[in-house]
Amino acid sequence: MAGRPPAIVTICSHSALQILAGARREGLGAIGIVDRRREAFYSIGLGKIVDRLIVVDSFKEVCQRSFWDRVQSVAGGDIVVVPHGSFVEYVGPECFRELDAPILGSRELVEVEASQVRKMRFLAEAGIPTPKTYALEEVLEMGLKDGLYIVKLSGAKGGRGYFLARNRREVVEGVERLRRQGLLREGVEVVVQEYLVGVPMYVHYFYSRVRERLELFGLDIRYESNVDGLRRLPPAYTAGVEPSFTVVGNIPVVARESLLPKFYEYGLKFVKAAQRLLRDGIVGPFSLEGVVNDRLEYIVFEFSGRIVAGTNVYAWHGSPLTVLWWSEPMDMGRRIALEVREAWEQGILDKILS
Ligand code: ATP
Repeated sequence: MAGRPPAIVTICSHSALQILAGARREGLGAIGIVDRRREAFYSIGLGKIVDRLIVVDSFKEVCQRSFWDRVQSVAGGDIVVVPHGSFVEYVGPECFRELDAPILGSRELVEVEASQVRKMRFLAEAGIPTPKTYALEEVLEMGLKDGLYIVKLSGAKGGRGYFLARNRREVVEGVERLRRQGLLREGVEVVVQEYLVGVPMYVHYFYSRVRERLELFGLDIRYESNVDGLRRLPPAYTAGVEPSFTVVGNIPVVARESLLPKFYEYGLKFVKAAQRLLRDGIVGPFSLEGVVNDRLEYIVFEFSGRIVAGTNVYAWHGSPLTVLWWSEPMDMGRRIALEVREAWEQGILDKILS
């Protein structure tokens, strides 16, 4: 350990308040990259949860090498970039892969996450139960057994554009509609997935490479428009309204305790798979996203290989599960900063970066 500790850098959106506040709580620098149109809001945090804001007119600036020279000179030393869902969405997967700055966690895992097909294959290889999933091309060629399916697009867009279908014809019609709406740009993958009936639960984890342990951090439920709004009205008023799955917020949830060992087991399976299958392995926050059915099985339809916005519901104080690991308030933003600080103190910062 020598000099000043690294500064945490992230894009101001998604879970940035928590990430930057966590950096300051752990004595690290906290630098936000902010879109000019959001500057007024994020400036409120200056000197409290963020040290410096770097204002941009477009997040594409982040993809230029010279941008990071500027960040480094503002930081006055080393930096660690902490990605989140909007980070990858705003800069694009190619820019993220090539980003000329040290990133906390595995770039490769974020890459796997960006592809619906690779993501589901990864979960299956980890030995985690998943719903039946078909590539669109497969459905067009081979047909589809009647049932209830959700049709999903690649890229972390918070469920935007997803729709329900009961057969091949409804899949084709829905895909045509997406095309007309301009939601099917080149490179967007479409998968048709068995719709799981039960209740959604999103499980937050942190894998520490410094302490070599997996921490179960908390759980949330997403609040989605309009599917969560439909149940507020009697069916007579909603007949013919298509459900949609656009995430607009998150709600905390406490799972029955008998589910927790299973959630932990699946988290361990995920970590082992990442260590076995990925060049960079795994470090830091990730999440499994699925449905608990009436047989109390947890079926996972999605994962995130970085911090999820659902952890914001436990910002500052931590969740009812963080007491398993910490005797003081610990949220995901602070946990990330602690990992960075401990790695830096032990001279193994490069072990947690990619
Ligand atoms: P993120 O921003 O995390 O990347 P996303 O765009 O990947 O989100 P998903 O989490 O895959 O979206 O799905 C959005 C929502 O669609 C879920 O929260 C859930 O309500 C619903 N959903 C997705 N897959 C299924 C499924 N197989 N069965 C039932 N509901 C599903």
